[in-house]
Amino acid sequence: MISADIELLTRTVPTGLFIGGTWGESSDGATFDVIDPATESVVRTVSSASTSDAVAAVDAAAAALPSWGKTAPRVRSEILRRAFELITERVEELAFLISLENGKALPDARAEVRYAAEFFRWYSEEAVRLAGSLQTAPAGGYRIVVQHEPIGVAVLVTPWNYPAAMATRKIGPALAAGCTVVLKPASDTPLTALVLADLLTEAGVPPGVVNVVPARRSGAVVGTLLAQNAVRKVSFTGSTEVGTTLLHHAADRVLSSSMELGGNAPFLVFADADVDAAVGGAMLAKMRNGGEACTAANRFYVHERVADEFGQRFAAAMEGVRVGPGYAEGTELGPLVNAAAREKVASLVEDALERGARTRTGGAIPDRTGYFYPPTVLDQVPADSSILGEEIFGPVAPIVRFSQDDEAIALANSTEFGLVSYLYTRDLKRGMRAAEALQSGMVGLNRGLVSDPSAPFGGVKLSGLGREGGHEGMLEYTEAKYIAVDW
Ligand code: NAP
Ligand code: MG
Repeated sequence: MISADIELLTRTVPTGLFIGGTWGESSDGATFDVIDPATESVVRTVSSASTSDAVAAVDAAAAALPSWGKTAPRVRSEILRRAFELITERVEELAFLISLENGKALPDARAEVRYAAEFFRWYSEEAVRLAGSLQTAPAGGYRIVVQHEPIGVAVLVTPWNYPAAMATRKIGPALAAGCTVVLKPASDTPLTALVLADLLTEAGVPPGVVNVVPARRSGAVVGTLLAQNAVRKVSFTGSTEVGTTLLHHAADRVLSSSMELGGNAPFLVFADADVDAAVGGAMLAKMRNGGEACTAANRFYVHERVADEFGQRFAAAMEGVRVGPGYAEGTELGPLVNAAAREKVASLVEDALERGARTRTGGAIPDRTGYFYPPTVLDQVPADSSILGEEIFGPVAPIVRFSQDDEAIALANSTEFGLVSYLYTRDLKRGMRAAEALQSGMVGLNRGLVSDPSAPFGGVKLSGLGREGGHEGMLEYTEAKYIAVDW
């Protein structure tokens, strides 16, 4: 049943480059394989864009820009709304494809597809609400008119962990603002982005407005994209390491840059927390997307008075998670995306164990095909363990005990990253005070999930620049034009 589904689905998935509204092959014929992480077998072979394909994609986006930028906001809005509806009609098909190329379990894949669609709905609503301002100059005598214009051609570079949502979170606001785009999806998961290209065409997006160029030679291709004169914007989601490289490229051309980079989210459980709620929140914050999320709780700081109870219940919940191929019905945790990702997780766990951490559950690679790693809880993790300083990106939860709130907040802030923090307490005053003291762009207060298309998502410190989602997300694709008027 499953292999028949895979057959049927993958036969209809596009595998070329999408440039100027048409499908084509790479100019030098290069290709790469997309692997199913549950079976380690090839799903499809996809064209790998060359640097001349990159130039062609920017040319197509530049040619489409003037008319798309002048298209009535209502028309752009209705195209995005139609895209939301088309994705919503195809949740099952898209979820299956995401699970196949990324490995995530179907419940996570379905949640991603709905989340991805919501960016198109939200930005269909924002497209008609891009208000400027008018005021009298403080000195009097003339008026200050400010309007928001589309910034121009945007290069979008996305990671493999949310193949649909990271693309729609950028395409939605860019199109709403009147920009045209070139999307470079991650090489582990290009198929979902290619299906989205087809779907956007069906929704009415004109040729050249959205171009998609999968490329294994990502450094050369993205470097070429950013070097083109027509490009005015780069929006990247991925590792801090690659983001930093792209900022150097952006500096050469003074490009507007939005960066959603790595995280190292602390999860604080205060002595007065509702432990049941904290365990529920921990399961969400840790296990959403199998732990492969930049928002994933990476370090659990638990007050010593509740640490045993929290640790036991959390480990019991983790033990109950059903592991298997993501697309098999009933699976709650699929494999990690690739062998390197699993190696990294395993070595972080080994390092913590060698330093004296205690295993509550999990902790070893199973003997089976596929890049599986079991749900794992480590307790009493020593402060010098690498797992507390690096992004785990897998289903592993390290617990550290604390005795004072101030100590927990200092530990939470003792990182160069600052994307999101989670915190559980029954006392809202104490919670708000801590939320303000935490150095992160987002805080979940008695909540294990913060992502929402209508809210500004983003980090401080090495976690990034700019915000995605909300009204802020669209302003990232505009320039303020100030007109001084004497009338
Ligand atoms: P990555 O290696 O940084 O890759 C992200 C994207 O950049 C991919 O499309 C990749 O293409 C491309 N890329 C890789 N090397 C490049 C280079 N030298 N020049 C230009 N582009 C390059 O990250 P990943 O391994 O896909 O994803 C995991 C990381 O992303 C984690 O650190 C996670 O925290 C972060 N992330 C952050 C957020 C957020 O919103 N803050 C969301 C999701 C993920 P290839 O696939 O072809 O290498
Ligand atoms: Mg990578």
